[in-house]
Amino acid sequence: MHITGYRSHGVAAAVALVNAVTGSGDDDGPDALREILRANNFFWQDFQDHDAEAFQILGRALRPFFEATELAQAVEVLNDLMLETPMHPHLSGHDNLGLHLHYAPPSAKLPLRFRATTLMNLSAMVCEHGLGRSGVCAAEGCDRVYADTSRAGRRRFCSEACANRTNVAAFRARRRNNP
Ligand SMILES: [Zn+2]
Ligand SMILES: [Zn+2]
Repeated sequence: MHITGYRSHGVAAAVALVNAVTGSGDDDGPDALREILRANNFFWQDFQDHDAEAFQILGRALRPFFEATELAQAVEVLNDLMLETPMHPHLSGHDNLGLHLHYAPPSAKLPLRFRATTLMNLSAMVCEHGLGRSGVCAAEGCDRVYADTSRAGRRRFCSEACANRTNVAAFRARRRNNP
């Protein structure tokens, strides 16, 4: 189980949060946020309804990272956020998860723990791959973001649905041009 590397839950959780908060038609209410935490192995039980605002603020703040077309822009987004986030890295082996790094202070509440982990995981991804593993979905009319932590790393769409829709459209266009 990858816990501390950029392949850990932080990158996928950041993507889900940005899409929930800034994607058209997505739900960023407390229950939707709780589900994002649960699906990405964060301690969703600690989530209080009044935490929603802190998560929504982070989701909006992270969107420019995915929209960045220059590496320097993406680095600036992450650096600015990391500098205003209290960090206090320490090792923990709670809940039989094996030894792994926590980035927020031990006493930090869930929103800060989530913020610290997602920022560190996104930063590790950028150090290794630059902007090659994240972006805004390439499908027409889709504003959702994605990150690709697979080995191949060729992803350009937020979902299979968007990839398929785009491929079908390209196929039809080719047939129209070459009847
Ligand atoms: Zn932990
Ligand atoms: Zn899409």
